[in-house]
Amino acid sequence: MPILTDAPAVVWFRRDLRLDDNPAWAAATSSHASVLALFVLDPRLLDRSGPARRSRLLADLAALRARLRSLGGELLVRHGDPRAVIPEVVASHGATAVHVNLDVSPFATDRDLAVQRRLAEHAVAWHGHWGTLVHRPGAVRTAAGGLSQVFTPFHRVWARTAWEPWPEPGEARVLAAEGDPLPVPESSPLGDGLTGDAAQPGEQGAFARLLLAAARADRYDDERNTPSIQGTSELSADLKFGTLSARTVARVVGESTPGRAALVRQLAWRDWYAHLLHATPTLVRAPMKPQFEAIEWLDDDEGFLAWTEGRTGIPFVDAGMRQLRDTGWMHNRVRMVTASFLVKNLLVDWRRGERHFRHVLVDADTPQNVGNWQWVAGTGPDASPYNRIFNPVLQGQRFDPDGAYIRRWVPELSGLDDTAIHEPWAAGPLELAAAGITLGVEYPQPIVDLRASRQRALAAYEAVRTPR
Ligand SMILES: Cc1cc2nc3c(=O)[nH]c(=O)nc-3n(C[C@H](O)[C@H](O)[C@H](O)COP(=O)(O)OP(=O)(O)OC[C@H]3O[C@@H](n4cnc5c(N)ncnc54)[C@H](O)[C@@H]3O)c2cc1C
Repeated sequence: MPILTDAPAVVWFRRDLRLDDNPAWAAATSSHASVLALFVLDPRLLDRSGPARRSRLLADLAALRARLRSLGGELLVRHGDPRAVIPEVVASHGATAVHVNLDVSPFATDRDLAVQRRLAEHAVAWHGHWGTLVHRPGAVRTAAGGLSQVFTPFHRVWARTAWEPWPEPGEARVLAAEGDPLPVPESSPLGDGLTGDAAQPGEQGAFARLLLAAARADRYDDERNTPSIQGTSELSADLKFGTLSARTVARVVGESTPGRAALVRQLAWRDWYAHLLHATPTLVRAPMKPQFEAIEWLDDDEGFLAWTEGRTGIPFVDAGMRQLRDTGWMHNRVRMVTASFLVKNLLVDWRRGERHFRHVLVDADTPQNVGNWQWVAGTGPDASPYNRIFNPVLQGQRFDPDGAYIRRWVPELSGLDDTAIHEPWAAGPLELAAAGITLGVEYPQPIVDLRASRQRALAAYEAVRTPR
């Protein structure tokens, strides 16, 4: 039996909005007689979240609160700066310990360090756990003891590294304390097409969504690149807010078929980018390959705006950007293509695109967003070589051959046939007229020439690619 402390512990929830498979919750409830569940709505984070992410967060918080109420407790919600709120809540409840699940973004680590220092002044214990990843940073090492800068060897070790045991939850009483009201989500927090439990926010809904994803996981490897179908798990927002632990996903999906193994492998990418950012916090703003800091990006404000609004005149790109604008989520294949279009064809700094995605994405997650943008820009670890530039027309023809994805998000093009829909500028005037399209009126002309802009990008990268 663990030793129980009479004084309460605070569990400060952040992006781990669940009670199951949550090491911070388990450690606190098994070592204290009572626990206080706290969430701090930090305006610095809320203001930077677009409506999709804000709504999802608020709905997940309401679900967590309902679960805590069913245990006789409450989720204490406080608005403000955690550096002030946490010490105050700890003091007013006489708590002797704070348990958290740690995060790797520089914002989170700086904030946590500041809170931890203030708590130490009052002899309050700080317990950081790694409940958001499968393996904690530092647990997956090369033979030489470092962090692999290449994904495949990282994955090889990741897959055979034993999971660090997490504590078992205890029976602590869940306290009920009154805080600030929880704002009501401003838009529908979960996408259309879900029914029953799977349409519910919070961990109960997340588990139902996981079961649906697991039921189609055998096909994942074949279907994951087709954006017109639900070929991926669509669990990224649950992983972002921690309504599911990555370990639960890995455990439930399993690796019994190639499709399942391929899905679990994506969680290794997630860990890898987190471990990289943990090791190199400057990744959020500086290219991993320093020579690329000197690239002469273009301040193409008009092009950038057209990109964000899905009116670049390149149908596959516009479909993706409209899916993002309208739902807060975009299919991975199309994230790669739209990001590449911005960085390579428009030659806009990847950090501008990363900031836009960070604002709008429901699943925006600093290590994943930064890691993937650097990968697309060719500036990051294990990135595609800078001279491999996606052709968005060929990508559309290959992964959306019948144009179903384009037709859904760019409906003004739906009258075009499966060939013309990918490059309407190449269609004849009669064909365009029959589909009710005048380029430049119903749908834009391409804002860049794909071939010329490709050459321009190659020249910009080649000018700096040799490290000085
Ligand atoms: C430019 C760009 C920006 C991105 N920004 C984010 C982001 O902010 N947050 C985010 O979670 N993912 C990001 N991704 C990765 C990926 O696109 C999403 O995780 C994925 O599309 C989510 O859909 P899913 O849950 O159906 O994924 P699935 O294919 O079902 O994968 C399962 C889980 O594995 C993880 N995963 C999958 N692909 C990747 C990847 N390439 N890198 C890291 N983890 C991955 C995610 O947690 C995902 O939920 C980005 C990709 C690109 C190209």
